[in-house]
Amino acid sequence: MIDRRRFAAGVLAAAFGAPAARAGGDPFALAGTFEQGGIARGQLPSGATALRFNDTAIPFAADRRFLIAFDRDAPPTATVEAVLGDGRIVRDPLVIAPRAWNISRLDRLAKYPVPSAEFEARRPAELARIAAARARQTAADGWRQPFAWPATGRISTLFGSQRIYAGEPGAYHSGIDIALPTGTPVRAPADGVVILAAEAPFTLEGNLLMLDHGMGLSSAFLHLSRIDVREGDAVRQGQAIGAVGATGRATGPHLHWGLMWRGARIDPLLVAGAMPAR
Ligand SMILES: [Zn+2]
Repeated sequence: MIDRRRFAAGVLAAAFGAPAARAGGDPFALAGTFEQGGIARGQLPSGATALRFNDTAIPFAADRRFLIAFDRDAPPTATVEAVLGDGRIVRDPLVIAPRAWNISRLDRLAKYPVPSAEFEARRPAELARIAAARARQTAADGWRQPFAWPATGRISTLFGSQRIYAGEPGAYHSGIDIALPTGTPVRAPADGVVILAAEAPFTLEGNLLMLDHGMGLSSAFLHLSRIDVREGDAVRQGQAIGAVGATGRATGPHLHWGLMWRGARIDPLLVAGAMPAR
């Protein structure tokens, strides 16, 4: 069953870019978008010693603020729990609204290109590098900020879109694509630390730049024509960090922006809100 109040609040947050607060009976003052692909921020009750999200321990800041997020395929319920100093547990059951993803069904099997020997040779090291970047913890504080769009333009592919080929689901689109000319500046959507800045294009992602925003939240920017920062750099929200391109597997110049939290794939549209008019 969908909690319509929370669902409506989430839709409003998506439309206006403002977090929706949940009314009453909310021990964590959680505010955010309670739908698949959404995030929420909250604060633990004073005296809390541990935070659990779906039975997994989650870090929180010294001021007891924290972030949780709901994967693209998150089930309809989730639980946030705090353990207090005296051992009592405060629990908040959440209802996560499902999304109507853009799914297209094709009768025929996809014509997957046969991976080249070069791709097969290079890909494992690229995947290892991405995994190592995601595993890095930094002191970045951007997770607290309202996110801004890294670039504005026509959205060409939504997050979560998927094709099903003769009943075989293909991978869903893990970020949002914004069609823009090569060279358009890309700006940090929130404060962060550069955890990956490819020196040479990756086979699929092209020139790949990844930022850690802290608390397990990271951004990835794909297909860049240029990267203007180096690994380890601390960047500020709005700072130019690179430029749009069509490197890697891209049919034309665009920015692919992906957001991830502890393995959960997040919809940038729900985090940055409606795109401002240019
Ligand atoms: Zn994309």
